[in-house]
Amino acid sequence: MTDAVTRFTELALSPALLDALAANNFVEMTPVQSAALPLMLRGSDVIAQAKTGSGKTLAFALALAQQLDTDSLAPQALVLCPTRELADQVADVIRSTVSRLGNVRVQTLCGGMPMGAQISALKHGAHVIVGTPGRIMDHILKRRLALGELKTLVLDEADRMLDMGFADEMDVIIEHTPTLRQTLLFSATYPASVKQMSARVQRQPHSVVVETLH
Ligand code: ADP
Ligand code: MG
Repeated sequence: MTDAVTRFTELALSPALLDALAANNFVEMTPVQSAALPLMLRGSDVIAQAKTGSGKTLAFALALAQQLDTDSLAPQALVLCPTRELADQVADVIRSTVSRLGNVRVQTLCGGMPMGAQISALKHGAHVIVGTPGRIMDHILKRRLALGELKTLVLDEADRMLDMGFADEMDVIIEHTPTLRQTLLFSATYPASVKQMSARVQRQPHSVVVETLH
């Protein structure tokens, strides 16, 4: 391909998102970003396999940010992560990505954290939810979190989530999301369990496999 997109400015991103990228000195896309972002920004489901450190977080942060309606405080994007540490890192990347979009609330919901603060935050509302499957399922089943307005679902480190035994929680959560949604699945490895999850939850996904880091 001679016309591969390699710089963020070549993408169909809003000025506010391009401003945030420039402020963070993100100019050239990493290989997984340049392969996956044009597909994700078109609204396609994508399954992306790339090594740790290849820039997958910024890729899905931009994809979900582009879909946000800041006027609605119903959750529009949900990112499922295997651990609290990862969820905190992902939430920071999303906050920095959306920093010029106006007032965007990004709420983490992780196990091992106090319930009270999460419950009051959910009453207030959030545009983006990031968290671990057990706690998010709990909030859904107790009717504190409704995902009827969700546009983007991200399964980050899907291989690790499945290894940790979160498949049932993930299925319950996904049952509570609209059928018409964009589902983005990220994984460092591509075992049968990840392929099966993709087949269950994605529609005609485009597969992106990147071997190199930079
Ligand atoms: P992954 O999820 O694929 O393991 P991360 O999303 O955590 O990787 O990104 C790894 C590092 O790469 C982060 O420090 C991030 O800031 C940096 N990074 C991401 N995209 C770019 C880019 N286009 N240019 C420079 N650095 C980037
Ligand atoms: Mg990652």
